[in-house]
Amino acid sequence: MLCQMCNGVRPARTTADYTLARARQILRHGLCSCATTPEPQQAPAPLPVREIGPEPVRAQPASVIESR
Ligand SMILES: [Zn+2]
Repeated sequence: MLCQMCNGVRPARTTADYTLARARQILRHGLCSCATTPEPQQAPAPLPVREIGPEPVRAQPASVIESR
């Protein structure tokens, strides 16, 4: 029941493990917190958002003529 690493009470797996004796062990030694917490999975890095689409059509009337 006790963890050999931290001498804590290992978390119960089933409801049958919730006994009075175990509760006293927890009060005495505390709960085990090593190697029981799963490592958080790293979320995949988000892909950079690329604007994929038609290029904006430049509205330029042909009648405009540069004149100085
Ligand atoms: Zn432990």
